[in-house]
Amino acid sequence: MKARTLLLALTLACVPMAQASVAPLNLNEQAMVRYIEQHHDSQVALLEQLVNINSGTGNRRGVEQVGEILRPQFERLGFQTRWVDLPAPMTHAGSLVATLGSGKRRILLIAHLDTVFAPESPFQTFQRSADQRTATGPGVLDNKGGLVTLLYALKALDEAGRLGEASITVVLVGDEEQAAQPSSISRQALRDAAQQSEIALGLEFASTAQGLVTGRRGISAWQLSSHGQARHSSLLFGPQAGFGAIYETARVLEAMRIAFSQHPGLTVNPGILAGGRTANLDTRQNTASAEGLKNIIAGETHVHGDLRFLSQAQQREAEQTLRDIAAASLPGTSSTLQFNDIMPAMSETHGNRQLLAQFSEISEVLGGGPLQAVPTVERGGADISYVANLVDAGLDGLGPWGTGAHSDQETLELAALPVVTQRLAIFISRLQER
Ligand SMILES: [Zn+2]
Repeated sequence: MKARTLLLALTLACVPMAQASVAPLNLNEQAMVRYIEQHHDSQVALLEQLVNINSGTGNRRGVEQVGEILRPQFERLGFQTRWVDLPAPMTHAGSLVATLGSGKRRILLIAHLDTVFAPESPFQTFQRSADQRTATGPGVLDNKGGLVTLLYALKALDEAGRLGEASITVVLVGDEEQAAQPSSISRQALRDAAQQSEIALGLEFASTAQGLVTGRRGISAWQLSSHGQARHSSLLFGPQAGFGAIYETARVLEAMRIAFSQHPGLTVNPGILAGGRTANLDTRQNTASAEGLKNIIAGETHVHGDLRFLSQAQQREAEQTLRDIAAASLPGTSSTLQFNDIMPAMSETHGNRQLLAQFSEISEVLGGGPLQAVPTVERGGADISYVANLVDAGLDGLGPWGTGAHSDQETLELAALPVVTQRLAIFISRLQER
């Protein structure tokens, strides 16, 4: 800790020309940096406590228990807290919402209480590595590492007397990993908070020490159904029987491949397919079945897939192209396409890049080097995607970095925690001065 403070002091004392524009840490910021270093052990202890409570998305009680541990901590900082429950049939836990202040430049902080690990998973406990550099555990990165980052940044702000002037809404979502459908209901609390906010910051984990997320691709699902005439194969290609459903589906898929395989940022993936005299697709169970004969023209095929896109405009354009492809059916066949929105894109905007620049400046003054945007195509959707278009600017990946999220190797770099906590605390403090 002392070595770090000294290093900082030296960095500030001999600011090289290249860093001349970087504002050094003021006294409040130095106090926050110190507070976070001094409370590293208690931050990790809280993380351990949270990781050791199972909060798989389906385990509502566990998710709420994690929220209830955090709730009094927010209240102690002056936040008003409440659960926004989901309707009972949706079964998942709702969101814990904590609000502070009434100022205009409201910041929305987003993290989640659930993990992908069900109570039956063998992966249930927090464990430090022998060299004390890393810790593994379910949700240690995704997203319990983000929860303690958020909380300790607020504690540091409070300690430095910088919380009183802030307007902050914290939304801790109960089912980020598997949003209850429809998301118009399960993400209502998040959207309501975003509508009152200027900036949204996501505490999802970072993949590297230098990478933050300025954009995320959106996702929709599509289902292609083709029909043909299930007649004897000797009639195939002829005027009465046409080409059959399987050739028709093959035509559509090949045209999709040609249209989109060179399309930057866009993917159209056929994930499961069934075809024959008759065919069935169950998109809830993710199963498909078919029956037919080698000498019967295929009467029916179904394909289920997803579409990933950089912006809503790109999504609409792609869907129109796909509909046009489906409509140009082979003789004796027809195809229909249905789309279901899953998650909107968090488009990369000028405002998002400006937030990245501000975080990068803070990282540099903390001695951590500049930060960069992770390529949008590398990050899937997250809760910030639902609200990115409701705020002036957003940034995600502000949690600690590590490896193996969603696997039983999920590992946090313990040294990342103070770094990301300091970045966030200083950012919130500086935002109030602008
Ligand atoms: Zn997550």
